Amino acid sequence: MHLPKEVMTYCPRCHKHTPHDVEKAKKRTASELKWGQRRFRRATRGYGGFPRPKPEGRAKAVRRVNLRYKCQTCKYTVQPASFRAGALELTEAK
Ligand SMILES: [Zn+2]
Repeated sequence: MHLPKEVMTYCPRCHKHTPHDVEKAKKRTASELKWGQRRFRRATRGYGGFPRPKPEGRAKAVRRVNLRYKCQTCKYTVQPASFRAGALELTEAK
């Protein structure tokens, strides 16, 4: 799947359509204060180790991708709902 690197879309801060930069959302390091991370630390603590079994079987061919749209005028970023794609490439707009 090919998508343009730059799209014209609505910016909620500018209240109008502006050019946006598109990039794949990368995983950020989890904050130690977030609820999920605190729960994970509690679950892995002590004897017994990791709470979930190791994933078995093949790696998934189609994965969920998140995109971030950054407004070029005010730098406001929106991350809409993710979708599934086999291979996603961001290409230069022609
Ligand atoms: Zn904007």
